[in-house]
Amino acid sequence: MNDSWCIGVDLGGTSIKCGLVSPDNQIVERNSAPTLALQGPEQAAERIAQNVRVLLEYVPAGKHAQAIGICSPGPMDHATGVLIEPPNLGWKNVPFAKMVSERLNLPVTLEHDAKASALGEYHFGAGRGSDAMALIIVGTGVSAGIVIKGELYRGVHGTAGELGHITVDVDGPVCRCGSNGCVELFAAGPGIVSAYEYAAHTRVESAKAVALAAQNGDELAVRVFERAGRALGAGMGALAMLMDISTFVMFGGVVSAGELLLTPARNALKHYTYKSVGARARIVVGELGSDAGILGAVYSARAKGRGG
Ligand SMILES: [Zn+2]
Repeated sequence: MNDSWCIGVDLGGTSIKCGLVSPDNQIVERNSAPTLALQGPEQAAERIAQNVRVLLEYVPAGKHAQAIGICSPGPMDHATGVLIEPPNLGWKNVPFAKMVSERLNLPVTLEHDAKASALGEYHFGAGRGSDAMALIIVGTGVSAGIVIKGELYRGVHGTAGELGHITVDVDGPVCRCGSNGCVELFAAGPGIVSAYEYAAHTRVESAKAVALAAQNGDELAVRVFERAGRALGAGMGALAMLMDISTFVMFGGVVSAGELLLTPARNALKHYTYKSVGARARIVVGELGSDAGILGAVYSARAKGRGG
């Protein structure tokens, strides 16, 4: 299975990216299509099947593709391949792996996007050479994929990695999850936008716009990112202390703000942990972009093929 040709699929809220992955983990051919989630999962499964059939034409003569790995936003059941209720797709309890598998007659494995990207970066990207790594996605929410000695840490019920809903301010604002002062309220895109709007008494389109304002010397915008980074660093510090994780690979739209976010995150991680733990911690930016999800989904499919 390790030396097999496979297809990786990154199913996102707006687009579906597919790649043909060689036995040595190179994406040798790729294509993409719009997700059009509103048309429903049957249509999306059909579009994936069409694009995968195109890629299968590129498998060398005499070889056969052996598995398909799909990564998508959660929540999902990795074991059964059911998408439970991904908010940015709007579908409910969809046996998506089965739907794609029936169309292509190949085994299909479904993996959470943060977890797939974590596997991708650990084995082929910025996490290479680390023993314990967390991939942190900071976008419209905050989530983490944890890889320890090459294997994903899922937890007993598959919910491990909910970094966005770790409390960093016990008296903080109420979160959509019902808790208070969650990391995500401060560090995710919507939290950055509303913090800036509140402080500056002005409307702003996105976290990217706040980052731009900060880069142009807007003090309020700089402070909003400082707090976002501090909340993020405190959350990552909890991960470092609990699980002895020393490599953090950063991913997602908000991370494009760069050091505006990462410098306060690094400082907070050091501040909220033991000196020795903080000194070991390394915060780096992901190297693979959306290829991390495709390569990680294939890694996951191969592992499942081996019974993992
Ligand atoms: Zn929460």
